Amino acid sequence: MKTVGFGKNCKVQLHSSRKPYMELVQERVAHLELQHCEDAFFLADLGDIVKKYEKWMELLPRVEPFYAVKCNNDPAVLKLLAHLGVGFDCASKDEISRVLRLGVRPSRIVYANPCKQNSFIRYAAKEKVDLMTFDNEAELYKIKNAYPTARLVLRILPPANFKVQCELGNKFGCHPSDARCLLRKAKEHGLNVVGISFHVGSGVEEAEAFSAAVETAAQVFNEGQALGFDFDLLDIGGGFPGHSEAPVTFKEIATVLNKALNKHFPPKRNVRIIAEPGRYFVASAFSITVNIIAKRLVTSYLDKDMAENDKDGKGAFMYYVNDGVYGSFNSLLYDHASVEARLVNAPVNPMEFVTSVWGPTCDGLDQILKNAKLPELDVGEFINFPDMGAYTLCAGSTFNGMPRPDMFYHCSENIWNTLFPSDLKVPEPSSPITKSLPILKAGHQLEKVEIDVLSASPTPVCV
Ligand code: PLP
Repeated sequence: MKTVGFGKNCKVQLHSSRKPYMELVQERVAHLELQHCEDAFFLADLGDIVKKYEKWMELLPRVEPFYAVKCNNDPAVLKLLAHLGVGFDCASKDEISRVLRLGVRPSRIVYANPCKQNSFIRYAAKEKVDLMTFDNEAELYKIKNAYPTARLVLRILPPANFKVQCELGNKFGCHPSDARCLLRKAKEHGLNVVGISFHVGSGVEEAEAFSAAVETAAQVFNEGQALGFDFDLLDIGGGFPGHSEAPVTFKEIATVLNKALNKHFPPKRNVRIIAEPGRYFVASAFSITVNIIAKRLVTSYLDKDMAENDKDGKGAFMYYVNDGVYGSFNSLLYDHASVEARLVNAPVNPMEFVTSVWGPTCDGLDQILKNAKLPELDVGEFINFPDMGAYTLCAGSTFNGMPRPDMFYHCSENIWNTLFPSDLKVPEPSSPITKSLPILKAGHQLEKVEIDVLSASPTPVCV
């Protein structure tokens, strides 16, 4: 097995592009079992992120992606996206500093938090991260004091009549009817507003949410220009789906969005269009595999649903696994996510039972699956959950002293060789990668990354 180093503390296992992901999970589990290791682990497919990047460039060629770091701040993800030339949406001083430390230029960052701490604005000024969003008058005064030459983007509320997984309009966004007044205030203070942004909500379920928001943004854009601002930027935010089971596909959104952009912001208008995708890039790239640490057969029920589901009276199984809602499955609470369990090994007996799966803490809220149907499993077996890259590992805690999962990276060898044509050579920004990834746009400069080749497979961190 070939393994390459990708910066500090990160090793990437390279494999044939035909290898199914469950086979990789099984290999990792077999390796852990040999070490008597039962720790939960993430498996991150860096090649999946590269494919998403290529798809973005193919389907939304006019829109520059600025990856939303909050969604998953894993160092290898950030390093890979920086190498691909993607920009970054940062919400805090820490996120800005992480991205700058990768060698990303400040001009590739948008500080997209409309309500910022004063000292963070001063930090942005010191680091020359000058593009930032606002949606209220108090923010204008703070920016005037801390960074008067910043380039500001007014975040407006998009139309709210569309279904989304996570609403954001309840917290941020200036109502379009108040925009003119706020822009006037900015003008009075001599501030430089350069454009409009919106966020339709995370995990949008209807493509038309984007076209409606673009139309509203165009109206406010025109008002700003009428007030004398030299607007040249539209930021269409995040919300794009990250996995194949999403209610609307990225392609459907891109079709609707391109039409709306070409109608309201045709190329001749010379408006730079950026977006802040988070889950789009990372959701499907990560799976988590957890270990069954305890098990219980229940035949007398307190839970009415469980009793009703166990129609034939076989009993129901409760499994306790070593990550839960206080860890990586916090997405069930914060992101309104739902998860699907996949068995790592074929069951001894395929007969299914009513099943609930619980996290390792002592809290009754810590439940991952309720009323699922699974064959009987044993303590020590592993269960895998796909599509776990978005809003999972970044907000996980160690509540009850439970450890965070290990992280293993892999990538198809073809994709890796395309990214880094010679593994031993550090690619220069002008290296032939532009030939191998034909849709890599001009202006998207590749960054220098450290890589080295290792011969051994990564050793699990286990005792
Ligand atoms: N931009 C901002 C300002 C956000 O608050 C978020 C998510 O909360 C994102 C981008 C990323 O959204 P998504 O992951 O839905 O693409």
